[in-house]
Amino acid sequence: MANCPECDADVELDEVDADVGDEVSCAECGQNLMVVNTDPLELDFASDDDEDDEDDDLDEEDEDDADEEDAEDEDETEDGDWDE
Ligand SMILES: [Zn+2]
Repeated sequence: MANCPECDADVELDEVDADVGDEVSCAECGQNLMVVNTDPLELDFASDDDEDDEDDDLDEEDEDDADEEDAEDEDETEDGDWDE
């Protein structure tokens, strides 16, 4: 059992299944909480913003260069079929 950092109430939480990053809400004050430690079980305020996710798509623009070579190969094979 862990305590709410907002109102210090006991927060119901399955300690066996709890992982760091799990989000729960306090039944007493409704505060959104996040598991920050499992041994000992410790809760902290959950952050509201999800902006961290946007960093995943960086540096993927380089893949465009590879496509140009494939296009050239297809051109050559098509030329043969058009010869009626
Ligand atoms: Zn609370």
